[in-house]
Amino acid sequence: MEILVIAALLGLIPAAIAKSKGRSFGLWWFFGAALFIVALPIALLMQPDQATLELQQLAEGMKKCPHCAEMIKADAKVCRYCGRDLPALDGAPQVNDSDEQAFHHWLDAQIPPIVNPTAGDLAELRKSFEWNRRNLQG
Ligand SMILES: [Zn+2]
Repeated sequence: MEILVIAALLGLIPAAIAKSKGRSFGLWWFFGAALFIVALPIALLMQPDQATLELQQLAEGMKKCPHCAEMIKADAKVCRYCGRDLPALDGAPQVNDSDEQAFHHWLDAQIPPIVNPTAGDLAELRKSFEWNRRNLQG
């Protein structure tokens, strides 16, 4: 009986290591309890499951730096890995710069040229720009 308790306790060690690498805790606990001597070195040596780790971090409120793709805190204003400024969080609607640039390029390319458009004109133009983009460039 005691040996089972010891095995179960020992199994927690590779299980904890495996979990920190994004693997299944339960499976590795069972593996570790049954075959501790084998499970421990494998747990130590195996590669972290990056995809699962990132999903876990996203679930914990982390986000991915758009510049260097490292996982950083959601509230961060500056990335701690690459030191670059980060765009504001979802609170404010994100203006997509490339969309905006594409719209202005399109405006500049209109024939006849559009001179001093009013806000109303711009709204109409933007609609036809987006229509064109949706329908012509799929
Ligand atoms: Zn970064």
